[in-house]
Amino acid sequence: MWCLGVGGIDMKQYILDIVHGISSIAKGMWVTFTYLFKPHATVEYPEVNVESMLPPRYRGILQVDMDLCISCLACERACPIECIVIEDVKGDKTFVTSKLTQKPTPKVKYPLRFDIDIAKCMFCGLCVEPCPTGAIHHTRKFEGSVTNVADLTYSYIRDTDIELAEKQVELLANKKEKEQA
Ligand code: SF4
Ligand code: SF4
Repeated sequence: MWCLGVGGIDMKQYILDIVHGISSIAKGMWVTFTYLFKPHATVEYPEVNVESMLPPRYRGILQVDMDLCISCLACERACPIECIVIEDVKGDKTFVTSKLTQKPTPKVKYPLRFDIDIAKCMFCGLCVEPCPTGAIHHTRKFEGSVTNVADLTYSYIRDTDIELAEKQVELLANKKEKEQA
């Protein structure tokens, strides 16, 4: 017959609690042990190159091919959080070959600024969908850590884009002058 021990402790309950505690630990350890024989669900990043493991439609950091951009602003308008900023000028008409349709697409505006705030970007892909030339697209890049958040505003404009814009503005101005003469 069980009796109350020192300080009024129920010895039967006390021993049952110890047995229950040991069996709980054993069950937990068994579950952990079985994972030694299962395929690994994690990899040792960054030692392992995880890029090849990403799904085919993975949406990483955006890239803009400025040679294809016609500054139509469709991506800027589509972005729900306004993290794309484009400033452009009107210039003489040229054509770029769309990566999507392989057809010439007229270009009458020339970007002088094309910034994307990657810190704000939520990688939704809504800016990619309406692009008529395939200029803006997601890469598979996901590593973008910096020590200053301002460095996450990516500028895609190159010196050559500004030179082209200036040249096309001049050509357009000359054309207009000739028409008026
Ligand atoms: S992926 Fe989405 S949030 Fe990021 S720039 Fe494009 S539209 Fe904006
Ligand atoms: S939608 Fe495409 S072509 Fe139009 S401004 Fe954006 S990147 Fe350029």
